[in-house]
Amino acid sequence: MTAEQELPSVSAGGGVGAGAAGTDPAGKPDRIDTLVVGAGIAGLTAARLLQREGHRVVVLEARSRVGGRVWTDRTGGRITDRGASWIHGIHDSPVEQAARAFGMRMVEFTVGGYQPDSRPLTYFEAAGARMSPDAVRRYADDIRTVNTVLERLISDAGSEATFGDLVERALAEQDWSSARVESVREYNDRRAQEQYGVAMMHLGAHGLDDDVIDGPEVVFPDGYDELASRLADGLDVRLGHAVTRVAWASEGVVISTADASFAAARTIVTVPVGVLQAGDLVLEPPLPPRQARALALFRMNAFEKVVLRFRQRFWEDGVYGIRQLGPEGEWWHSWYDLGRLHDEPALLTFAAGPAAIATRDWSDDDIAASSVAQLRRLYGDAVPDPTSVVVTRWQDDPFSRGSYAYMLPGSVGADHDVLAEPLRPAPCGPAVLHLAGEATWGDDPATVPAALLSGHRAAQNVLERPVAVSDLWA
Ligand SMILES: Cc1cc2nc3c(=O)[nH]c(=O)nc-3n(C[C@H](O)[C@H](O)[C@H](O)COP(=O)(O)OP(=O)(O)OC[C@H]3O[C@@H](n4cnc5c(N)ncnc54)[C@H](O)[C@@H]3O)c2cc1C
Repeated sequence: MTAEQELPSVSAGGGVGAGAAGTDPAGKPDRIDTLVVGAGIAGLTAARLLQREGHRVVVLEARSRVGGRVWTDRTGGRITDRGASWIHGIHDSPVEQAARAFGMRMVEFTVGGYQPDSRPLTYFEAAGARMSPDAVRRYADDIRTVNTVLERLISDAGSEATFGDLVERALAEQDWSSARVESVREYNDRRAQEQYGVAMMHLGAHGLDDDVIDGPEVVFPDGYDELASRLADGLDVRLGHAVTRVAWASEGVVISTADASFAAARTIVTVPVGVLQAGDLVLEPPLPPRQARALALFRMNAFEKVVLRFRQRFWEDGVYGIRQLGPEGEWWHSWYDLGRLHDEPALLTFAAGPAAIATRDWSDDDIAASSVAQLRRLYGDAVPDPTSVVVTRWQDDPFSRGSYAYMLPGSVGADHDVLAEPLRPAPCGPAVLHLAGEATWGDDPATVPAALLSGHRAAQNVLERPVAVSDLWA
């Protein structure tokens, strides 16, 4: 098939967008083997691997940049990752291997997984007093005791319960004071909120199954987006192309934007599940029942980053973060010290789950003031106003509709992978529609590695043979 209509190429930096827009030098429409929708890590990975194998690939991206939910803000010369920050465990991580091959600087910062005591944290108890090391140890031991039971209950559970139900069952097995029970209940709720942007009573029983950190965690002082720009280097990425319709048939696909359409033998669609569910991008025909069912089992979360920068530091040296327990921490309980990345004193906190929903319409200044009020409660009135504030707005972003997907009750990890099964309009016909992206990868979903590995799988499904993921950075 050929491109139905020519379009001006919208170039991104770093070698993206090179080449004419679907025409060869003789002016004839170019053959496109694969149209990739979305230039996030999943789409760029798939496109890069296919292009390396000699496929003609065009990537259609709605935004004016590549990277999707990997997005580094460089306003005023300050580096702020508005999307992903961490590699949650570098052992066997293809993202770590890619980053190392691309020469990206990484800094150890093992606090991304809401661990109680993997690294030093300053803990405050409910009344606002600092907790002693012994009290923190007892608190962390209680968490581990309950979580051992919780793991057993989860592995025995079907899919209909919520994560919160199982936490309650695990707590009921402890012969503890109500205060001890409450502190571990609170921990698990905050863990669900900080990890998946949703209260534990709304998260599926298996929603935290992959919440295991394998090795140290690292972050990128020069910005995570270098990964995206290196993957995009040399690809034909058409920015500013919001796809509205994907028509798929045995003969191939026709993909429409507001003012153009493209045709190809097949497509890999990598938009977030929230975009598919909202109907902003219509699949024609719609997904088969098996994939439609799986899609309905995920929701985009409410999870926003809040970065507070200060003229001077008012918290302790040598800690990775600050955490407060108890009801005052309902919204603001954890602040992470970005001093490991940059010289300027800065704290990262999250409006996660209920806090993100409640503050969605607040101004940045009001959100910052609410969080700083809690810091003043802990550190006193000498805590200065921040010199700058960054608040992300992923819930309002039409091209993500949230930060990442969480599992609803009724789902199991394998439902992610169902979404990625190659789709054939006719039983013995070619696979023309492939879905990829973080929510299509069941092993550690909702992450950059999940996105990358889903793109790798989609490329292999198109090629119908294995390719090494290391080809990405070879
Ligand atoms: C605040 C936040 C914090 C996070 N923290 C971490 C972390 O610390 N570690 C971690 O591993 N992961 C983290 N994540 C998750 C991680 O960023 C994502 O899982 C990953 O980047 C998703 O990549 P993707 O390619 O699947 O999707 P995306 O990056 O969303 O790529 C999809 C692309 O499709 C484009 N698109 C959407 N609609 C259309 C359309 N109609 N037409 C054309 N293009 C379209 C989008 O613009 C986007 O570029 C975080 C995410 C957020 C938002």
